[in-house]
Amino acid sequence: MDLLELIIEYHKDNERQGPGSEEATLKALSYIPQLNEKSKVLDIGCGSGGQTITLAKNTAAQITAVDMLPQFLDQLQNNAKENNLINRITTKEMLMDGLTFDENYFDVIWSEGAIYNIGFEKGLSLWRKYLKANGYIAVSEISWLTDTRPEEIEQYWVNAYSEIDTIENKLSVIEKCGYTSVAHFALDDKCWIDNYYQPLLENAEAFLKKYNYADEVKEFVEAGKVEADLYNRFKDYYSYVFYIAKKK
Ligand code: SAH
Repeated sequence: MDLLELIIEYHKDNERQGPGSEEATLKALSYIPQLNEKSKVLDIGCGSGGQTITLAKNTAAQITAVDMLPQFLDQLQNNAKENNLINRITTKEMLMDGLTFDENYFDVIWSEGAIYNIGFEKGLSLWRKYLKANGYIAVSEISWLTDTRPEEIEQYWVNAYSEIDTIENKLSVIEKCGYTSVAHFALDDKCWIDNYYQPLLENAEAFLKKYNYADEVKEFVEAGKVEADLYNRFKDYYSYVFYIAKKK
């Protein structure tokens, strides 16, 4: 059983595959001028599409949602059907560093908890050309909330994602990549605990059982617990931060 299969099985039935909330999505959306039925939104690394559904329910826009995993896209399709949103959400299996859209096409690019897969700077640079002039981007990215932090958490994150940085430095990257920053805010506890770690931890026992408590599955679940524990101990020092910016 490979790690990717475990990741898919552990996460696919959840509403989201990373920290976030309907409130946070709506708050980010509030900084973007109102979208109409002609507006085109691209949701990158959409997962099972928690935020895609929120965007579709709260705008009139046409949304294209892309992810590399068809299992997550299937879940989003089901959710879109249940919510009667199938005519405004199109899913596409695609790599985020291999997008095949026309340039200057989208009014808004959205990406929650996903850009780190190719790196913040690379993602912002690569995706810019798909935005129309004055288009908006809204991305959430793990960031340091303070200038200094305990060694234990510094080590963990630098090892897990070396591009983690302070909000100030992330804002510089945004400018450097050809955008003007509009707003930013950190995700709250509910996004991390209630909506992300809690559902995973609640499912841990059933998940272990399903795989007959195989060692590699135990290790996988354990790594998730370690991450949740680190969050509880060090949440004053880091969070996902939502960055909203406009194409220069
Ligand atoms: N936006 C969703 C999912 C975040 S998890 C949410 O907030 O709930 C990150 C997502 O990025 C996963 O669905 C994963 O399949 C996808 N992903 C990871 N690397 C990718 C890549 N290179 N190209 C496209 N999608 C990728």
